[in-house]
Amino acid sequence: MMYRMPQPEDDLFELEIRALASARNAYAEEGAWHHQALGELILAYERLLRETRRLVRRSDREELEMNRLNQRLHELAGELEYRATHDSLTGVLNRAAIIERANRYLTQHGVALIVLDIDHFKRVNDGFGHPTGDAVLRGVVACLQAEVPPGADIGRVGGEEFTVLLRDDGCEAAVALAERLRGKVAGHDFGLPGGHAVSASFGVACLPRGSSFDAAYGQADEALYEAKRSGRNRVVSASAITRESS
Ligand code: GH3
Ligand code: MG
Ligand code: MG
Repeated sequence: MMYRMPQPEDDLFELEIRALASARNAYAEEGAWHHQALGELILAYERLLRETRRLVRRSDREELEMNRLNQRLHELAGELEYRATHDSLTGVLNRAAIIERANRYLTQHGVALIVLDIDHFKRVNDGFGHPTGDAVLRGVVACLQAEVPPGADIGRVGGEEFTVLLRDDGCEAAVALAERLRGKVAGHDFGLPGGHAVSASFGVACLPRGSSFDAAYGQADEALYEAKRSGRNRVVSASAITRESS
């Protein structure tokens, strides 16, 4: 490609280019106006330096601003991702996130799914008001968070229904955990008027690798229904129902 000299009409430093040309001519032909051309050159170069410094400062400022905006964009993307995957009341994973995570785990290994539903929660809302009901939901989550092992995922899958998703470490361990969670909720002081107690019923299902969240949830929900039917504030394992009905 042919090199094209910068043209005065497309250059920011048009004056400097002209002054330089005039200085070169002056240099070639000895004469009195020599000094004037060199003077122009000096002025033009001073201006060039000022202008360049100003541009560098501006570009530094703009780079800083761009970095700041970039950082904010990352923060907002993180916030958006958090909001899309978490329940705003309790801070645990939302239904969609739990489904996505369970299905992802199930492609690699089996999982245990604990589903729990607060007993007679309507009575809390009706008796003490919706904000108190909200506080109870947060309190139940605090009970779960205090007991679940690291790596387990807590999710809110319905109004007052939660799940604990465990990577496969044995169904017995999951049932034992559900029992501890049940005891924790039943023994927790929610600070309700008259010392009103809160309890929850639990269903547990263990599914092998290759199953789906829907299958796991279906079985755990059936066990939960059985826990409600047989008196509430208890844990029922899906495998116990299967054994009984076979
Ligand atoms: P059961 O023991 O059979 O589960 O009875 P229950 O009263 O807990 O069950 P039901 O499904 O009849 O009532 C659930 C109530 O949960 C109804 C609904 O108003 C309430 N609820 C759902 N989401 C929220 C929430 O975000 N905050 C509050 N305070 N209440 C909620
Ligand atoms: Mg319910
Ligand atoms: Mg309920």
